[in-house]
Parts: sequence; C-alpha cells; structure tokens
Amino acid sequence: MSIRPEIKALGAYKFEAKAYQVKLDQNESPYDLPQALKEKLLERLLNIPFNRYPDLKAESLSDLLAQKLGWPAKGILVGPGSNTLLRRFVEGCGIGQRVLTLHPTFSVYSLDANTLDPISLSEVPLNDDFSLPLKTLKAELAQGTGVFFIANPAAPSGNLHPEAEVISLIEAAKEHSWTVVIDEAYHQFSGTDYKNIVKRYPNVISVRTFSKAYGLAGIRLGYCFGHPEIIGELRKTLTPFGISSLQLETLKLVLSEGDEFVERYIAEVKSERERIFKALDALAIPYKPSVTNFFLILSDEPAKLYQALLDKGILVRRQDHLIQGALRVSIGTPSENDAFLSALAAIKAF
Ligand code: PMP
Repeated sequence: MSIRPEIKALGAYKFEAKAYQVKLDQNESPYDLPQALKEKLLERLLNIPFNRYPDLKAESLSDLLAQKLGWPAKGILVGPGSNTLLRRFVEGCGIGQRVLTLHPTFSVYSLDANTLDPISLSEVPLNDDFSLPLKTLKAELAQGTGVFFIANPAAPSGNLHPEAEVISLIEAAKEHSWTVVIDEAYHQFSGTDYKNIVKRYPNVISVRTFSKAYGLAGIRLGYCFGHPEIIGELRKTLTPFGISSLQLETLKLVLSEGDEFVERYIAEVKSERERIFKALDALAIPYKPSVTNFFLILSDEPAKLYQALLDKGILVRRQDHLIQGALRVSIGTPSENDAFLSALAAIKAF
C-alpha cells in the first residue's frame, strides 16, 4: 500500500451523523428552496441533456456572478462547495511555501495543508477573546511567502475581526507577496463585504459559499473572486467539468429568481439571534455573542450538556476540543429556537 505517511498521520474531519428532531449542528439554513422554485428547477432539468458534459469550468456561472457582483468574470472561480476552492489556494500558493492560519478556525485550511504539505503549515492561536494576535501574525508574514487564510466573520467563534486590523495584515502580507484568502462564508449575516478591499489589493481573494445564506448546502456550490491575474493562474488547477449540469441549473435559477427568500432568511437570523441572546441572558447561560447564523454556548460539562440536549431531540455541535466548554448552535426557525431554549431551561432547572 503506497499511502504517504503524511496521509496516514491525518486525523479525520470530525463529523458523526446522529438522530434528532431539531438539527442545529451544521450552520445550515433551516429552510429548503421554496417549493415553487424547486418545481421550476425540475421543469428546467427535463430539458437538460444529461448525456452531455456541462461547461468546462462553470463559465456560465462566472458570467452570471460577474453581473451580480459587478466584477469581471475572469476574476471569478466557481467550485463544488467553497471548501474545494480552499484547496486550490494551498496547491497554488502554499505547497513548498507557507500556509498561515489561525486556531481555532475552519478546520479545512489546516486539513488541506496537512494533506498536501504539512511542513508549510503554521496555525497561530487567536487571543483568548478571539481577537487577532496581530504582532505574531505580522512576524509570521515577515517570514517567507505563501497563503494566509482568515475567516471573517470568524468560525467557529462567530466574531467579526475589525476591518482596520485585517487591512493591516493585508499590508504586511503584501510586502512579502503573500496571497490573503478572506473566507466570507457568513458575510451576509454580519452585513460585511470585502469587495472593495479585494478591488484595492491584488493579493486578496474573497471566498464565498451558497451553503449558508442561500440554503444550498446540499447542492454544493461556492465561488471566489479576486484580480483576474491571480484567478487566471488558479483556474488552471480546477478539475475540468467539476460542476454538474444539476448544479449549474440550480444556481442559474436561484440567482435569477431567488433573492427574496435569501433576504427574508438573513433578516430572520438577525432578529432571532438577538432574541436568543436575550433569552440566554435571562437563563444565565454563558455564551459568546456572534454576528453569524450560529453561536457558542459554554458549559463546565459540555459532553453532558450535549447529550442532555440530544436526549431532548436537539442536535448541536461539540466544539470543546477547540474552545474550552464550547457547544456550537446554529440559529434555526423560530420554533426550532424555541425548542432549543425550552430544552436548555429544562436541563438547567434539573
Ligand atoms: N468556510 C467556512 C468558514 C465554513 O464554516 C464552511 C462550512 N462549514 C465553509 C467555508 C465551506 O462551505 P461549503 O459548503 O461551501 O464547502
């Protein structure tokens, strides 16, 4: 068996399917695509020849996104889930150079680096309050060159790093020719948008997903945008015909007709988030405030609390291997959030 030792040394991505009544464990939208749009999609699929290959590199989606974003299509790449695009940056800018990220953060950055070139990886701990350790990061950026991954809003901590701090890191990265990947998976929920910063700095890329605000996690689609020069280089690393006709057609439909349901969901997340935090305050349950569609609650006995919630049908995600005592909870529908809060209240009363 010719498996490389680096692969044998890898831990698996931690995820275990469980039975539940209320699913709050994966930062998904609780809402499926509206029925009318699904029916329209099925109709359109009847006219798609499944025997024919789709676009070579989802060019028709880059064109649509270009119109929507006001960005040149040559500066946009589409991938089957934004996590597949992250690997392109490790391949294109990291291997044999450096991969810099934070800890805790989205685990795929380090998983990809560890799969492709573990020596390149550096994970800098966030400060205890989840703020950026600017001095340490700048010292890292002064050594060599490579790719720096930063999720903003941050995950799983759920906070927003101030734009001025991120810009100071981008400036430091620029001096040493690093590529900076801003993962904006949750940007709609924080109301932030790094497009102008990407425009200003040719070494910065924004990566976005349709899995969260658009509620298309099952369809698997994400994209990134940056200056056409760097995107053109990375386009060479995309797998040919990597986006299926089903994916192409779904996104075409949603981009042309779907904004209303997306906006409604974003507004609901913002108001539910405030309502939940008030309820947690009233219950005296410690939590970390968040600008995203998920948040952390903290417990002295996270394993017990996780199981007690699951016994009441509420599935959340353990994060206590990353952050002491933390369970991560997605914001669900108002009635799912009520179920979560009632379960917590009942557990606490025990
Ligand atoms: N970035 C972050 C910060 C995420 O939390 C996630 C999903 N959990 C992703 C990227 C990946 O999203 P996708 O479904 O597009 O692969």
